[in-house]
Amino acid sequence: MRLFLALVPPPELRERLGELADAAHACCGGRRIPDESLHLTLAFLGEVSDVQAVKLVDWVNHLAVPSGEWRLDGWGHFRRPGILWVGGQSPDPALDILQRRLWDALEGFGLAGRPTRFVPHVTLLRRADSLDADNLPTPDLIWPYRHLVLMRSFTHDDGARYTTLARSS
Ligand code: ATP
Ligand code: MG
Repeated sequence: MRLFLALVPPPELRERLGELADAAHACCGGRRIPDESLHLTLAFLGEVSDVQAVKLVDWVNHLAVPSGEWRLDGWGHFRRPGILWVGGQSPDPALDILQRRLWDALEGFGLAGRPTRFVPHVTLLRRADSLDADNLPTPDLIWPYRHLVLMRSFTHDDGARYTTLARSS
């Protein structure tokens, strides 16, 4: 099964992000990520076996994650997949440390895939017609977090859908 570790936004923030996604979609087209799928990926694990998944669920359920606040104050894009996202204009040391800690543990589970660069972001559009966010309002949002989740991703023709398998304590 296809898994990743993520932060999910609290309900009010999910609404604000949805509004940004609407504004982005109106200007740039593409496929707007539905509100229920908005997230920040901390680690993409890819395909794992059922045996590994059981171990990961148990690990995440017992994992303690330091709480924090992530500031989202900028737009960004990944050109090739046509992704338009919101994130921080400057690196977030707490998220960087969390991401490194997670990969240290994941490698202990025998998983590979630690990225060379971690760019925390929330994807709002995929396959956008334009990636020019200059006319969009500058975001200024705070994301308070206390838990991470282990998500399973199901691929569909109209985009992936996710289910939560575990949440940190
Ligand atoms: P789809 O690929 O069907 O358009 P998706 O990208 O949302 O949808 P997944 O590919 O399962 O679904 O990815 C789940 C999460 O992991 C997403 O946040 C995605 O950006 C991220 N992700 C996927 N592949 C990688 C990768 N190779 N490296 C880093 N993050 C990834
Ligand atoms: Mg993908």
